[in-house]
This record gives sequence, C-alpha cells and structure tokens, in this order.
Amino acid sequence: MAVTRFAPSPTGYLHIGGLRTALYNYLWARKTDGEFRLRIEDTDTQRNNEDAMKAIINAFEWVGLDYDGKVEYQSQRMDIYKKYIKQLLDEGKAYYCYMSKEELDALREKQMANKETPRYDGRYRDFTGTPPEGVEPVVRIKAPLEGKITFVDGIKSMININCNEVDDFVIARSNGNPTYNFVVAIDDALMGMTDVIRGDDHLTNTAKQIIIYEALGFDIPKFFHVPMINNPQGKKLSKRDGAMDVMDYKKQGFLPEALLNFLVRLGWSNKDQEIFSMEEMLELFDPSNINKSASSYNQEKLLWLNAHYIKNVTNERLAKELEFFDCNISGHDKKEMILDLSKERAQTLVELKEAIEKITNRPESYDKKGVKKFIKENTAKFLDTYLKILEEKKDSLHLACDYEEVTRPFIEKFELKFPQLFQPIRISLTGGTQAPSVYDLMAILGYDEVNLRIRTALDKNFNKEAE
Ligand code: GLU
Repeated sequence: MAVTRFAPSPTGYLHIGGLRTALYNYLWARKTDGEFRLRIEDTDTQRNNEDAMKAIINAFEWVGLDYDGKVEYQSQRMDIYKKYIKQLLDEGKAYYCYMSKEELDALREKQMANKETPRYDGRYRDFTGTPPEGVEPVVRIKAPLEGKITFVDGIKSMININCNEVDDFVIARSNGNPTYNFVVAIDDALMGMTDVIRGDDHLTNTAKQIIIYEALGFDIPKFFHVPMINNPQGKKLSKRDGAMDVMDYKKQGFLPEALLNFLVRLGWSNKDQEIFSMEEMLELFDPSNINKSASSYNQEKLLWLNAHYIKNVTNERLAKELEFFDCNISGHDKKEMILDLSKERAQTLVELKEAIEKITNRPESYDKKGVKKFIKENTAKFLDTYLKILEEKKDSLHLACDYEEVTRPFIEKFELKFPQLFQPIRISLTGGTQAPSVYDLMAILGYDEVNLRIRTALDKNFNKEAE
C-alpha cells in the first residue's frame, strides 16, 4: 500500500513534466490501494500566487486525477514546522548561526577564489560565546561532517552523496520561517509518505531531507527520481518546444486520456505497447520500471495518440468535449453520422470541429487552388446534368449507397474520371477538396441541401471572377 503525493510549488501553471510526476504517483497509489495526496508547497509567499494554485487544481480536474483527503497547504502548517525546529535546537541537532550577509558573501568569494565549492564553514556549529549584537540568527542543521549519505533509489539504484557536498544548511530563516527542504521532509514524514516519486533535479534535496529525517528519527520513504523530459534535440524541454501548460493542451484540442497515455510512456514502458487505458496503466505501472535515461518529447506521437482516442471514445463524449470549442452538435439530427465521418481524420478536437463545420455550415468561399485545378470549362455543364439526375431520383436518395447507385452510371456514361466529378462536388459542398467521402457527405446533407450548395457554387461560378 503506497502513500504518495504530488507537491507542486504554485509559482506558475502546471506543466506537463509536473503532470507526469503526478500521474506516476497517482498510479502507484491507486494500484496498491494506497493514498494519493495533493500538497501545495506555498511557503515561499513572495513567489506564490493564487491563480497558480487554482490552475493546478483545475488541471487535475481536467485530466481526472483525484486525490485523497483535503488539499494540504504548507502555509497553514507553520506552527508544526516551528515545533520541530525548536525540538532540533533543544536537542542540540540544530543551532543558531549569526553570520551576517556580508560575512557570508566574503566567505563565498574567498572559496570561489580558491576554486572551492561555496559552502558554510560551520563557524557557529559549536559556538558557546556571546552572540553578536543586531543579527537575527538563522537556524542551521548539523549535517554529518564526513562519510556519505546513501540511499537506494527505486530507479537509479544506489545513490551516494558525499557529505562534503552538503553543508549545515539553513532550516529556518532569520524571520523564523522554515526552509523548503525542511518542510518537505516534515510533511512527507507526518503525512505518512511511503514512496516519493519526483524529478531527478531533486537528488541533492533528497540528501538534505534525509539528514532531517535522521535528526528527527522519522522513517525514510522510498525515493524514485525520474529522469527529465528532453526536447527532440536532447536538450532540456523548454517552452519553445511546445505548449507546456497542461491547460494549453486542452485548448489545443487534446483529450485528457491521450495526454495521460502520452505522459505515462514518456519515461516508462511495458514491452512495445503504446496505447494504455487507465485500467491498463493501473494494472501495469510500477515505478521500478521507470526508464533510467531521459525521455524525448515527441509531438507527433501525442497527435497520433490523440487521433486514436478521438476515434475510439463515444460520439456522445466527443459532442460534450466539443462544447468547449463552441461547437454544439448534440442537437443535430445527423450527429452520429457527422461525428463518425469527421473523426476519421481529426488529430485534435479543433480539427474535429473544423471538419464538422465544413459539413454543417455552407461554404463562405471556395478554395482557390482547388477551383483552379478542378473547375474546368465543362464542369458547370455536367454538374447541371448531374443535379437533374439527382432531382429525378430524389425520393430514393437517403443513404450513401443510394447516391452511389445514381452516381456510378452517370460517371460511366459521361466517361468521367472520379476527381472530375467528386472534387467539384466537394468544393461546392464544403468549400475545399479535403472533405471526406462524397457519398457520405451527400447522405448527411440530404438532397435539398446538396442541390442548394451545388447550385449556389454554380451561380457564383465558384467565385472565379473574384480572382
Ligand atoms: N515543490 C517541489 C516542486 O514543485 C516538489 C517537491 C517534491 O516533489 O518533493 O518542484
């Protein structure tokens, strides 16, 4: 039974790297019938903002990751942290440090000049004298002076961090506020985390947090440090590589299941399987199988997955999702056919909306390139004849096959090639040449609308004069 958490700092929107971390924690907790908690790390009041918190919670709602219990806010837990700082001071495991900013700067400069890594030199560690006047002290933890901090990472195996890389770091600032690594360790311990899955940019923090766990005698959770997501060029993923805010993916027309499927594979695999339903993720995911090396963001794959989910979710669901894009298809009497036809090629809901509107809306213009290529001198004449034939048979025209039955003999009789007839019809009906099967399209529109759209195109001469 794993107890896990997602612990974002609300300094901006939720990016996809964060969502991937959240997903891994979620899957592991749910798979093991454990608990998945959401904790907002908002102690850094200057950098936090309310909107960012809401954005994170909204993004969770959109993708359907539910968490247990209430959302915890670190800003509301200050008393708890302060109690533990006092305990460490009382036990001599932490101490006040009175170094001024100037002294710290001077020390850092000296160390840099000697090509040493800047670190606190421990000058107040065993201080027993009279503290200097006028300095509000910080509290520092007594970190081990030698040896190694060792832990077994669930992904990276044995991790050894040399103690000379970790100094007596500050656990409470001069205003009494606790610092990041301190509060994370306290919360993870008090909230009973058994497994912490997070980005491998936190490795050094983990070493510091282990020092806190040990000082307080808390059980240390199991850590899984997930490698980063890189861009296709192998560099750190940046905003320029694509939309990073989870909610941008919604705006761009991605289904949450496609995004989650994409993210689960971005750093974890199960043989060569690409499509994972939530049930399969829950059945198969194990953080021990997370890849050891960084993964590469691949927009094509995301589009491919999204197209897959668009084709496979119900039409009812699609209709519901399309409302977000101001596309209301639910009330249309041919909605099933329209959606069946339109979803075949759509990679996003935005493309799906466009495809639908090509059917439901009369064209306002005709694609110039298409007109130039397919509207020839004799086009008007045979379209006119074709419309007359349709009119004669109009009472028997209902299904796509009914239109086909009427159209085939016409093509043969006039010895037409398919594009000679179909492209002018497509252009008349939708304005472009990319529309789906003409017979399906005509069956959806019905004879009267087909007749009207083709007549209109002919009357306007496909806007050729407007050139
Ligand atoms: N609040 C940290 C962040 O947003 C994550 C802390 C953690 O997962 O331990 O990067």
